[in-house]
Amino acid sequence: MMRRGVPVEYGARRVIIGGGAPVVVQSMTNTDTANVTATVTQVAELARAGSELVRITVNTLEAAEAVPTIREQLDRLSIDVPLVGDFHYNGHTLLKNFPDCARALSKYRINPGNVGQGAKRDAQFAQMIEVACEYGKPVRIGVNWGSLDQALLARVMDENAARTEPWNAQAVMYEALITSAIESAQMAESLGLPGEKIVLSCKVSGVQDLIAVYRALGRRCDYALHLGLTEAGMGSKGIVASTAAMGVLLQEGIGDTIRVSLTPEPGGARTQEVIVAQEILQTMGLRQFMPMVASCPGCGRTTSTVFQELAASIQDFLRTQMPEWRERYPGIENMSVAVMGCIVNGPGESKHANIGISLPGMGESPAAPVFIDGEKKMTLRGARIAEEFQQIVLEYVQKNYGKQATAV
Ligand code: SF4
Repeated sequence: MMRRGVPVEYGARRVIIGGGAPVVVQSMTNTDTANVTATVTQVAELARAGSELVRITVNTLEAAEAVPTIREQLDRLSIDVPLVGDFHYNGHTLLKNFPDCARALSKYRINPGNVGQGAKRDAQFAQMIEVACEYGKPVRIGVNWGSLDQALLARVMDENAARTEPWNAQAVMYEALITSAIESAQMAESLGLPGEKIVLSCKVSGVQDLIAVYRALGRRCDYALHLGLTEAGMGSKGIVASTAAMGVLLQEGIGDTIRVSLTPEPGGARTQEVIVAQEILQTMGLRQFMPMVASCPGCGRTTSTVFQELAASIQDFLRTQMPEWRERYPGIENMSVAVMGCIVNGPGESKHANIGISLPGMGESPAAPVFIDGEKKMTLRGARIAEEFQQIVLEYVQKNYGKQATAV
């Protein structure tokens, strides 16, 4: 089903979610938004890593007050990534009382489970939608099963009890999540917010639950969909769970923007969630963000760490260069590099890449042939193989991509 396209704008920057546009990568800060310096620094890092939208929490008066200053400071750094405000409980008050905050944000996230109880719920939800209409901002209606609207859940359970063959508890929960998202979107439309300004999400933390919920959500509406496994976890578990769930759905064309909700390792970079999101999309062939590095796993034929160090150093080098290369060398993201451990698969794999190197495995002569566009061009030897290979990659980029081509 073709989804509605939702433009999210800041200045000249226009990111489209849905409507057949490429899947958008987004991320969220974990700084105190009231701390302007820390938040600006992290938003800039996420944007430079390739996050196309960055969400910040707006949870207090101080945070709402800080948002316009954060926007100004990002402007001064030439960071034009659209900012999304994440609102819970007091969003109606903050958006109403801090118009500069409402204007500085490019999109609002509203959790229908956290907008108020009883009679206040609809009025406070309406207040937020009215602000979105006034400033022409899109809204994500983001349902999360950790904060599901309890009144709605009770209603769905009552409806289920009245069925001749009641559904199981899991099916009822799915139904409540989807109903919350769709009814909230319909209410927003009835308040004047066009469907082209609405993005929906129904986040859960189980892989099979996410797949089931989004398949049903995708069938039942044509709103643009924000996809993500909530509370995915830490390290490899979080990455694997997110990839398993999102991979299935993205393959089915479900998901117009993604966020990978990883718990960072202590002291770990927040940008990891951006890198993982990009790698999911790139390895699935849905988007290209940076040159792909193919490297073999190594085996008993590689007993030193030279090969692992070379693979890591070239990957880091490419990632570090990308913010500049993206502008300077159009098409660079399509380049492929191979770093292989020995002659078994090394020369063959290297020939398939734009640039490949095959290191000497145990017992081979201490020489590393380099292949460029399928042809063996040189052989590297000695302790400086990593630096020399990096230089060869740099020269290849300068010669083959963008306006700088052939300048070397
Ligand atoms: S290319 Fe060589 S070192 Fe790498 S996994 Fe294969 S046999 Fe082992």
